[in-house]
Amino acid sequence: MEIISAWEELEKKVAACQKCKLCETRHNTVFGEGSLDSKIMIIGEGPGEEEDMTGRPFVGRAGQLLTLILEKGGGIPRETVYIANVVKCRPPGNRNPKQEEILACSEYLEAQLLLLRPQIVITMGNVPTQWILKTNKGITALRGQWIPWRGIKLLPMFHPSYLLRNESKEQGSPKWLTNQDIKSVKKILDTL
Ligand code: SF4
Repeated sequence: MEIISAWEELEKKVAACQKCKLCETRHNTVFGEGSLDSKIMIIGEGPGEEEDMTGRPFVGRAGQLLTLILEKGGGIPRETVYIANVVKCRPPGNRNPKQEEILACSEYLEAQLLLLRPQIVITMGNVPTQWILKTNKGITALRGQWIPWRGIKLLPMFHPSYLLRNESKEQGSPKWLTNQDIKSVKKILDTL
């Protein structure tokens, strides 16, 4: 009960937040959604247009692909994971969030991590991976590697938007590699 009210308090705080300029152009904040008992937190970059309009994370084409990856590729129902973004308001024109915006918003993601206490974190694409690991290395170099982080098993994966631009499913392609990655998540999940 206490945990649920802590989530609600945090969501209200985010909905009213004006800590960075992204509040000026957003339609809705996108707090995050999913199972509060989940062992997995998926962290994306920030809301896109459809997410901004609906207030929900990963609901556009990239979100639909994420659901497919989880459910068909990994056998992990989407509703059993928790999904959040590094920034909770849409960067205009889907540009990358600026460092000062990420910095302003990071307290919310930190709070979500503390409340959820996931055992697995999946970072999708460069922005969350580089922010969390404090690295300049790109996602191509890091994806598919399990990295211990604060006692959590962290796996960087390609962002679904990147996969939408790379249609090939041939061995070694980004889609093929992502399929390997999600299977590896399921394998680890089954041991927890
Ligand atoms: S992006 Fe984060 S810090 Fe900036 S206004 Fe939105 S909720 Fe606040």
